[in-house]
Amino acid sequence: MPRLLLLDCDYHEETMLAAARKLLDEYGLDAAGKTVLLKPNMLGAWKPEAGVTTHPSLVRAMRVALEEQGARVQVGDNPGLAGYGAIERCGRRTGLAEAAGDGFLNMARDWERVPLRSRFCDSTIISRAVLEADLLVNLPKFKTHMGMVFTGAIKNSFGFIVGAEKARMHTLAPRPSDFGELLLDIYLVRPPDLVIMDAGTVMEGNGPSGGTLRQVGKLMAGVDGVALDALAAHMMAVDPHRIPALRAAESRGLGPLELNSLQVEGPFEIIPRFKLPMSLASSRLAGILQHAGFSFIARPRLKADPRLCNSCGVCEKHCPVNAIELRQRPVFNRSACIGCYCCYELCPEHALKPRSVFAMLRPL
Ligand code: SF4
Ligand code: SF4
Repeated sequence: MPRLLLLDCDYHEETMLAAARKLLDEYGLDAAGKTVLLKPNMLGAWKPEAGVTTHPSLVRAMRVALEEQGARVQVGDNPGLAGYGAIERCGRRTGLAEAAGDGFLNMARDWERVPLRSRFCDSTIISRAVLEADLLVNLPKFKTHMGMVFTGAIKNSFGFIVGAEKARMHTLAPRPSDFGELLLDIYLVRPPDLVIMDAGTVMEGNGPSGGTLRQVGKLMAGVDGVALDALAAHMMAVDPHRIPALRAAESRGLGPLELNSLQVEGPFEIIPRFKLPMSLASSRLAGILQHAGFSFIARPRLKADPRLCNSCGVCEKHCPVNAIELRQRPVFNRSACIGCYCCYELCPEHALKPRSVFAMLRPL
């Protein structure tokens, strides 16, 4: 039975360091003389208080606690934003570069093509730091996701993938159920040695960047990322089977997902009236229709708020299928859109707004 720990989290330096030491001790992670990669969620260049990225106090505490053991610690991610200097900019803005001490890594610089056990492709491009680390500590952020319902430990592994290869992955598996399976394939390239999820401030609603923040005040930890994501689903009062990556995990025997099959230690609570994304990804009906071939169900109907959009072009640049043309505002080619929500999550102004669920239901 997977053992999962819940600890209080207030982002204060002393509390976080005490929690980091305790978790290393509880899970017996012996890092002496080893290279440890800390993999936070560094989705983009957002400040820590935006609640989009893993809080730097967790990364700092883990780095210090591991260095106390004599580890060589690296901190890195491949953020959604690509281009010259994007990783360094994200590192500065999120506070993660400072939290990393001397160990902040541009993971896009050094990569390797590796075999992938997947029905969607037989290889992919992964940062070499992921492959070469002696220990991998996955530090996801507890957030909803418009396309995948939830982004936790499994989804955080998508950051193993370098640059434009991420776009290729999206095009290979456009339906949420398929993409969930592909995320699991990537997670299994290098499963974590420890997962600590930042559920201090969590995001509900239309995540992973445009949702609303809730104070939950928890760190969630375990060795099994599937079990930890399932626990997060139970905290959201969501059946874990509604999360595509968890459905895929269970079908491969990587569960269990039921709450009574998890050994939870610490103050477990269901978050009252937790809001899911306003997309159809989490609906049972949408899942059934997608399986039946109605792929349009997964496509978002987004519009740019003219008061917020500054015509920066980030959405156009990062659409994996060139379904956006920037005139004064982004114009969407809905028949080309594959519903990856990259434009939505990367818009620095939160200018893209989903239309109502009923609007999304219309065939495109
Ligand atoms: S919608 Fe967002 S990302 Fe796209 S051009 Fe406007 S501000 Fe930039
Ligand atoms: S328009 Fe947005 S959601 Fe659609 S494929 Fe492009 S980036 Fe993805």
